[in-house]
Parts: sequence; C-alpha cells; structure tokens
Amino acid sequence: MDNITQPLNTYNLISSAPTHLWIGSPELVHSQVLRALHNVLCTIVQCQQTCVHTHQLANEQHPYVLFLRPTRTYTREHIEILHKVCSYKLEENTKFYCVIYQADALGHAAASSILKLLEEPPVGYNFILVAQRSESILPTIRSRCIISTYQAYTTHCSDALCLNMSTQFTGDPLQFMQTLEKLEIDEISSLTYLDHIFSFWQSKCMTAYNNSDQVALKSYNLACSLLLFHIKNPPVPGSAVLMWKNIFLHMSLFLKPANQATV
Ligand SMILES: [Zn+2]
Repeated sequence: MDNITQPLNTYNLISSAPTHLWIGSPELVHSQVLRALHNVLCTIVQCQQTCVHTHQLANEQHPYVLFLRPTRTYTREHIEILHKVCSYKLEENTKFYCVIYQADALGHAAASSILKLLEEPPVGYNFILVAQRSESILPTIRSRCIISTYQAYTTHCSDALCLNMSTQFTGDPLQFMQTLEKLEIDEISSLTYLDHIFSFWQSKCMTAYNNSDQVALKSYNLACSLLLFHIKNPPVPGSAVLMWKNIFLHMSLFLKPANQATV
C-alpha cells in the first residue's frame, strides 16, 4: 500500500522521513520544494525569504541541495552524479537534499539503480522525487516514499475562519471576532486551520512571484512567515484564541483590504 498523505505543511513533512514523492503540477510542486527547503535550511526566525538560502535555492546553487533534472530521460550520467554526491560522508547533524524532478522520466534501469539509495539513504541524505502523476512512478519506487499530492488552492475549505483569513480577508476586527467566537477554537483545530490558511497564502505567493508582483509578494510572504512561525510554535493549551487575535492583528497590518480585489 502506498503511504498517501495529505500534506500538512512542508516544514513538518520534509523532516518526517528521508524519502518523499511529491505529486502535482511542476510549477506548483517546484515552489513547494523551494519553500520547504528554505524552511529546513534557513535558521532566521520569521525569515522573509530575502536570505542567502532563498537566492541559492532559486538559482539552484545551494551547497546542501542537488537539483537533478532529466534532459529528456534520465541517463546513466545523471544517476552517476546522484550516487557520487551521496557517497560523501556528511558531517554530523548535516543534512543534504536531493531533488529529483520529473521522476516519471526515470526509466526502469535508472529507477532500479537508485532503489537502494531510497531504501537505505546514507546518513543525512534526503530525497524528494517530483512527478505529475503517481501512477507513472514505478511501484517499487512509490512504496519507498511518503507520497504527498499538491493541488492549487481552491475554495474547497469553506470553513468561516479559513475564508475570513484567506479569500475573504477584510481586516475587519469585529467580523473576525464574531467568527472566532462561534468556533470555540482549540489548539488542535487551530493547527488544521493554520495549515489551510498557510497553503492559501503560499499559493498566493506563487501567483505573485509568477506575475513579478513584488509588492504583493512581499506582503504575502509576510503572511506566510507569520503563519509558519505559529505552525512551528503551536499554541499552548488555552492560548488558541490569543494566537488567532495576534495573527489577525499582524495580517491586518500588511494585507490591505484592497487585496480583496485580487484574491
Ligand atoms: Zn531565510
């Protein structure tokens, strides 16, 4: 059986196991990969993705990441590079990430030759395979990976709090407080909400990035950093409402209600 999981958030996900298969449209998954790698590599608290890691990852030149792309298919040379990179012994507590794009292009021979790596990754090595469809990946590879499927955010989450903090964000504190009061929100449900809202702003970042809209990108990035901070530091018992008030207050500062028109 494949271990199909719905991605919670990429930060927890990428640290949960060394071998992953991420399914989705190439653009969407690529942006998830960059963000996830940034989150595990960057140690700046609430980093707004202006750091050196962000640049190195965007240029695919990070010293702790190998980005592997097929020319048309994966050749023996590609696989040799992968094996060579993974043969180096890493320093203690160091992590190295191998991103294998278009894993659907791994032919039978190439796939077989990396099975062992995926099965028993050398200490510190992590693999993210990226593909458009999971059926196109050999079952032997699939069974080694934690599989996550990424879909562009749609308004599938019709929950009032999610809407209030995503597509229908107005910055109106009264309306927000009424929504919050109706929910009787606790620490556990807060985590699910955080994930939904985070994935929404993450997809907004990607759209702004693709449109070279620097102003929007900056404010969406702030929203993502804020949400990510709370995902990494979940509310302690009894503090869920306070956390949401804080998040709302901060989001109101950098997301102008005018964004509504573009949401
Ligand atoms: Zn950073």
